[in-house]
Amino acid sequence: MSINIDWENLGFSYMKLPYRFIAHYKNGQWEKGELTEDATLHLSESSPALHYGQQAFEGLKAYRTKSGDIQLFRPDQNAERLQKTADRLLMPQVPTDFFIDAVKSVVKANHEYVPPYESGGSLYLRPLLIGVGDIIGVQPAQEYIFTVFAMPVGSYFKGGLTPTKFIVSRDYDRAAPHGTGAAKVGGNYAGSLLPGQNAHHAGYSDVIYLDPATHTKIEEVGSANFFGITKDNEFVTPLSPSILPSITKYSLLYLAEKRLGLKAIEGDVEIDKLDRFAEAGACGTAAVISPIAGIQNADEYHVFYSETEVGPITHKLYDELVGIQKGDVPAPDGWIYPVSL
Ligand SMILES: *Cc1c(COP(=O)(O)O)cnc(C)c1O
Repeated sequence: MSINIDWENLGFSYMKLPYRFIAHYKNGQWEKGELTEDATLHLSESSPALHYGQQAFEGLKAYRTKSGDIQLFRPDQNAERLQKTADRLLMPQVPTDFFIDAVKSVVKANHEYVPPYESGGSLYLRPLLIGVGDIIGVQPAQEYIFTVFAMPVGSYFKGGLTPTKFIVSRDYDRAAPHGTGAAKVGGNYAGSLLPGQNAHHAGYSDVIYLDPATHTKIEEVGSANFFGITKDNEFVTPLSPSILPSITKYSLLYLAEKRLGLKAIEGDVEIDKLDRFAEAGACGTAAVISPIAGIQNADEYHVFYSETEVGPITHKLYDELVGIQKGDVPAPDGWIYPVSL
């Protein structure tokens, strides 16, 4: 089989690859699981995942290095986060080794679809954990499916990093103060589709949500965390129990301090004190960093570094992290998991 993909023009779209991993949980334990060519899930119409949102997902990437090897970036962190999400939704944990082996097996089976180093693309992996079975009352499922599928995706910024405009959501929250904001569940996303669409229609690339209790502090972006760089060389990112703990964010906190010599701070980011920041960005696995040109907050539009240019520290952080992910820059211990074919 020869594959024919225009690597340079990949976006972020579903592509049905030859293999995915699937395992069932029954009678209180995980079965071994297997790779399958069947891309359709078969589940009861009454599955709790469908009715009551008892489901969780993850997102991570495999990268091709300059020498042609394939490596994963911090998959243990995704495994741990999925375990925390599972605890919150009364789902069984997927053990870390089981999770990493499943991810590796999917990469290996579809290795021809890991984009070449030069293309800037990567293989995006989507682990999914769902409650299934014949239950219609509101209660946790007795049976679960854990699956991991994959698709090649392009580099987010084709022509290099580009700042874009964001808008503060005044009418909708992403999460409740003590709700499921810190869990990576689809339910958080269903409610963010409408504010997201409103923002796009108004010409903004994404929504910034404020803390749901007081609406005075930045919480996060729809599917990415927020960071700002102060004029005093501090890397600041919000701390809140209703933010999804981004692995990219924690990686940047570490690199900001250890490699760039910034002061790394998790704390409050008041929406009416944006003047303290020289640069700002959103971070997550998909784009790594999306530089924020400016934030529209009610009638005020606040510009950070520049409407069109990326700030120097944002750029350095991006290069450092992407360099590590692609194997060009030495990684901190334990961040890289090679996939041997
Ligand atoms: C997945 C996700 C992020 C980004 O997390 P990463 O681990 O960096 O990919 C941020 N916010 C939300 C709501 C998410 O679901």
